[in-house]
Amino acid sequence: MYDTIIIGAGILGLATAYRLLEAKPEARLIVLDKEDGVARHQSGHNSGVIHAGVYYKPGSLKARLCKAGVEATIGFCQRHNVPYEQCGKLIVATDAVEVERLAGLEERVRANGLDYRRVEGDELRELEPNIAGEAGLLVAKTGLADFAAMCERLADQITQWGADIRFGAAVTAIRETGSEVAVETTAGAFTGQALIACAGLQADRIALMAGLDPDFRTIPFRGEYYKIADRRGALVRRHIYPVPDPALPFLGVHLTRMIGGYLTVGPNAVLSFGRETYDGNRPVARDLRDMARFTGFWKLLARNARSGVYEMRGSLFKRVYLERCRKYCPSLELDDLEPYRPGIRAQNVSRDGALIDDFRFLQTARSLHVCNAPSPAATSSLPIADEIVSRALHGKA
Ligand SMILES: Cc1cc2nc3c(=O)[nH]c(=O)nc-3n(C[C@H](O)[C@H](O)[C@H](O)COP(=O)(O)OP(=O)(O)OC[C@H]3O[C@@H](n4cnc5c(N)ncnc54)[C@H](O)[C@@H]3O)c2cc1C
Repeated sequence: MYDTIIIGAGILGLATAYRLLEAKPEARLIVLDKEDGVARHQSGHNSGVIHAGVYYKPGSLKARLCKAGVEATIGFCQRHNVPYEQCGKLIVATDAVEVERLAGLEERVRANGLDYRRVEGDELRELEPNIAGEAGLLVAKTGLADFAAMCERLADQITQWGADIRFGAAVTAIRETGSEVAVETTAGAFTGQALIACAGLQADRIALMAGLDPDFRTIPFRGEYYKIADRRGALVRRHIYPVPDPALPFLGVHLTRMIGGYLTVGPNAVLSFGRETYDGNRPVARDLRDMARFTGFWKLLARNARSGVYEMRGSLFKRVYLERCRKYCPSLELDDLEPYRPGIRAQNVSRDGALIDDFRFLQTARSLHVCNAPSPAATSSLPIADEIVSRALHGKA
């Protein structure tokens, strides 16, 4: 019998195990994952940005935990030799409409208590000679990290502290009684005093297995990237972001400096026909069926028809994608965009068709479920883990 069973060897499951063992070194703990190693889904398929906390609603969990996450992530990277860098980020407004939106964003940055500087004209060109814009916000704390390597280090540390990790163990059933939680997997059954589920793209299914009646479903959104050809590698010194369009739910394709010394541009946000289909947007019958049965999905489509078409066009036509990048990086050419692996976001959607924005948890007497942890959850992983541990220690989970 374990004290705690954790589902998911992504960054949240592993960070939770790490924080639990820091708080209670004697705890008997196991992490279960259906894959053959850590970070096989979102935690290993993301932009690698250490977000400073620019966009998030002041007072939200995202705003608070992201800000704390910058320091926590950098501290962890330094202590455990995980590659990271604080290169800063420039958010660029390219026309009058965006300059106005940038002013709104500046207010938010200020409300979130972040250090930033507004730059214009010559200074903008001096900072980033290959970027065209009328004005920008420079946020120095934004950085980059290898989150998959962070997962490896977290896994090494928790196993050194005595935790078990079982790969190839897909959870198929959960039964909770007054005294324990029994978890059935394809690699056998496990029992624990408490269960913590950090199942990412399968969060709703795991919550249903635990007997919860979640008022959301996990809708997968592909984030497609291109790698910028190495010959253009010195194109920018910082991450370059467009000013987000309030009519679109995601941040817009950005130029991102990656650990390894290369650049990517992306990700877009296209409805994915499968939750874990990295080799093309293949339809997966079970995933499509679950979406189609959920009324919130149809409401989401109706609410976001315009942005859906916008994203689909960028996905289907490389030239359209290119034009979106050229808006702020005019020297990019079609053959500068090379194939790169996509990621798939676990975006939870409520019954009324709204994208759930903030981090969210659901609890039973003995289990806690991470029910919405989109970006910046990799940056925020250690503070999210603190939040989970404090909620779990107050309940039984
Ligand atoms: C395209 C993209 C770009 C992003 N960019 C950034 C960024 O730049 N900065 C940032 O901070 N965040 C970013 N994010 C968000 C960040 O990557 C995620 O929020 C974070 O990785 C979530 O971690 P997780 O552990 O919850 O999920 P995951 O990493 O998806 O892990 C969930 C785990 O649960 C396991 N699992 C699921 N079901 C079962 C089951 N039945 N049995 C056993 N195991 C199961 C899976 O195998 C998986 O290993 C991005 C995400 C995407 C997709």
